[in-house]
Amino acid sequence: MHNKKNIGYESVFIQGEKDSENYMKKMFGDWQAKGITSVLHEKRGGYANNTSAIYGLADKAEAEGVRILTGTTVKGFQYGSNSSAVTGVETDKGLIKCDHVIVGAGPWAKTFWDMLELPNEITIKGSGGNLNTNIPMWHYWMLTEGVLRVDPDYLKTDSGDMPPVIHVDTDAPLYSDTDKSLITDKLWGIYYKPDFHFNGIQGGSSPYKVGKPGGEGVNVDPYGPKSADFVISDEFGDMWTSALAFCHKRFEGKSHLFKKGATGGLGCFTPDSFPVFDQFRENVYMIADSNHGYKMIGVGKLVADEVLGEKSSLLEPFRFSRYEQGNLHPTSNSPFPWS
Ligand SMILES: Cc1cc2nc3c(=O)[nH]c(=O)nc-3n(C[C@H](O)[C@H](O)[C@H](O)COP(=O)(O)OP(=O)(O)OC[C@H]3O[C@@H](n4cnc5c(N)ncnc54)[C@H](O)[C@@H]3O)c2cc1C
Repeated sequence: MHNKKNIGYESVFIQGEKDSENYMKKMFGDWQAKGITSVLHEKRGGYANNTSAIYGLADKAEAEGVRILTGTTVKGFQYGSNSSAVTGVETDKGLIKCDHVIVGAGPWAKTFWDMLELPNEITIKGSGGNLNTNIPMWHYWMLTEGVLRVDPDYLKTDSGDMPPVIHVDTDAPLYSDTDKSLITDKLWGIYYKPDFHFNGIQGGSSPYKVGKPGGEGVNVDPYGPKSADFVISDEFGDMWTSALAFCHKRFEGKSHLFKKGATGGLGCFTPDSFPVFDQFRENVYMIADSNHGYKMIGVGKLVADEVLGEKSSLLEPFRFSRYEQGNLHPTSNSPFPWS
């Protein structure tokens, strides 16, 4: 909190159920969520249209002289005869010789990990110093998202402003807004925001693990809407719209407005669900992130500095060696493994 303040990232932290409720009701008169014991209001939160953001980033990179080869698929790597270093990247358009490789492939982290012949099972030191061997390195999670077809203005605050992105975690029982049946009495969470690109209220709920630990046999491709296996189900629509109604009276009776469609997608997670930023095979830098999102964009600058020889203390907690050394990141108390 203090650090955030120092960098001008203003936020308000409210503790206690009654104060939390009063704070939220001041913003939304129809707030009715139960079991909320704290509120963190980040004043500078927001969201960006991802397509425009990526085009903007591409322009910036090209202005620095970067050549982007879109529509090119990496198929494998060539290695030196006397070392484990990568000397060339094999693509569907031919071989690209290289001195350094930097991989930042989101949910395809394991695909590249396998291409680089890195270990799919690792050793993790437990808190008592015991060594747990043969622990699978990767696990896929299904990230669920969808849209409610109402005007984005529908979620304005009582003062007529656009609301922050709202993220709610609670263990209060959740009942279906359509048939009142119990959906869950375990910890659950959702997030939502008005979205002008999707023309509605867009958001998601807690992800869930898919496939076996190790990720063997999970087909990452085709990804997203084209996937036969990894898109949202009808249960997600019922859960998410019921959760919206749990939070705001204005969403009661609106579940029929949930937009049917193939949304959501896979995420690829490490054993502690935090990223690995590290060098492998002498000249390969992996940015193996577990879906932490756009806020991780500054990592690119730190990684560039590392590749040029300047070690970053900020990246130090994310080394691959943390598993063997038992310096894992703490397990999230929320139903979202990345928070
Ligand atoms: C359903 C869903 C919703 C999300 N919502 C948000 C959100 O609201 N905010 C947020 O910040 N984050 C969100 N995320 C997280 C999101 O993954 C990141 O924000 C962002 O896309 C990560 O960027 P990236 O570059 O690491 O990975 P990606 O955007 O996944 O990019 C990886 C790239 O690697 C390419 N690639 C894969 N294999 C190969 C190959 N063999 N050869 C060449 N190229 C290859 C892929 O085509 C892709 O373009 C969401 C994720 C999901 C699944």
